[in-house]
Amino acid sequence: MDIDSVYTYEESDLNTKSQSSKEFNPFEVAQKQLDEAAEYLQLDPAVHELLRWPKREFSFTIPVRMDDGSLRVFQGYRVQHNDACGPSKGGIRFHPHETLDTVRALATWMTWKCAMVNLPLGGGKGGVIVDSASLSLTEKERLCRGWVDQIWQNIGPRQDVPAPDVGTTALMMSWMMDEYSKLKGEFTPGSFTGKPLAIGGSKGRTQATGFGVVFTVREAMKYLKIDAKKCSVAIQGFGNVAQYAAIGFVELLGGKVACVSCWDHDDRTAYTYSHPDGVDPVFLQSITDQYGTVDKKKAFEVGYIQEDGEAWIAKEADVLIPAALEGQINGESVQRIHERVKIVAEGANGPCTPEADHYFKENKIFNIPDFLCNAGGVTVSYFEMVQNAYNYYWDETAVHERLDAKITTAFWNVLEMAQQHGVHNRLGAYLVAVNRVAEAVRLRGWV
Ligand code: NAD
Repeated sequence: MDIDSVYTYEESDLNTKSQSSKEFNPFEVAQKQLDEAAEYLQLDPAVHELLRWPKREFSFTIPVRMDDGSLRVFQGYRVQHNDACGPSKGGIRFHPHETLDTVRALATWMTWKCAMVNLPLGGGKGGVIVDSASLSLTEKERLCRGWVDQIWQNIGPRQDVPAPDVGTTALMMSWMMDEYSKLKGEFTPGSFTGKPLAIGGSKGRTQATGFGVVFTVREAMKYLKIDAKKCSVAIQGFGNVAQYAAIGFVELLGGKVACVSCWDHDDRTAYTYSHPDGVDPVFLQSITDQYGTVDKKKAFEVGYIQEDGEAWIAKEADVLIPAALEGQINGESVQRIHERVKIVAEGANGPCTPEADHYFKENKIFNIPDFLCNAGGVTVSYFEMVQNAYNYYWDETAVHERLDAKITTAFWNVLEMAQQHGVHNRLGAYLVAVNRVAEAVRLRGWV
């Protein structure tokens, strides 16, 4: 092998890694959130300390032969935050700015999300420092298989079950599951979720997160005694979560979509789209690409109106669903929310800042926190594991009904907890989730 062709970390990977860790440490945020809940619950200090840290962390290098014959070495991670309730569960993110602390934070949040919906699972997350889009299909396949080669003895249906996340896809889960099965010497579809249907994926997984968001909105409307048929929603994002949140809002609740906002990769800016007769989400989905960008020419042809990307937040609507990025409803943007808004349903992870939370409280806006609101995805991933274990597959109606039951129960558990303690919904959700994990930790005699 020509030593010149050996490639270690890209300089840019290392630079971005140190920059992002200097600016914002999501793991510190995750620990602070737990600290608040622990104080409120007067959690045993030993349990609290145990839950502040991941139980296991794996950091490894993945050598990959590139198409041009050179060798490149990628940095990979897997963090298992807590598995007191069951095997760890969480996605694998391929991102150029990935850091160990990001993976730790995401793994911690997965523990709370699984506990929130009462799944017999713990929290985990994985990552690779890489820009997926910079790799060819064959390089991606070798990287995916390489990730499994490094960690396969520490994952599996009874230990830790990864899934797709930012930068990873269903096809990549197929390669990973195949590699795991080869190493194990037996077909093990339950080792990864988010797979294509033909190799053990679950029906209803694509719609699961967006429909889960809609189920929580429906329950919030019951509680607030609002008629969904008279309501409209303004949505940020038009990717996987937002599309099915929009479709569900119309088809399951009978409401209207006032607007959607999405990123336009040609113009490198975001736009808000609305229509005088209301947005037709199924039509809009048909003219949206795989990255969630609406074809504006086709939209204009049938009368859609385009405004700047931030206009969505000020629209006259009853419900807001931020389903794109983190930190979008903040101290500044929250001031532009229309006075008609009664519910903010967090489809994205972390879309609202503490300043926004404060505004919601002051203005009696009902907030549905992210790890309750968007838990539909992991719930159907769990259903996928169950179907894989039984080698028996459910129809879409069964998935839909079971998802609805899980999310609805979780919603009322949070509301009851929040009301019982006189706290806001986000803290209520933490109290439910942390209580469950703490009980499992104690029952297993870990402290
Ligand atoms: P996606 O990549 O499919 O879609 C993202 C959408 O956001 C796209 O339409 C994009 O155009 C839009 N967007 C990006 N920047 C924008 C901006 N500045 N203004 C307006 N729109 C913008 O992603 P997704 O899977 O729908 O995930 C969205 C959020 O939901 C993320 O926070 C993700 O972590 C979270 N989430 C996703 C799932 C899931 O199952 N997909 C589950 C739980 C949480």
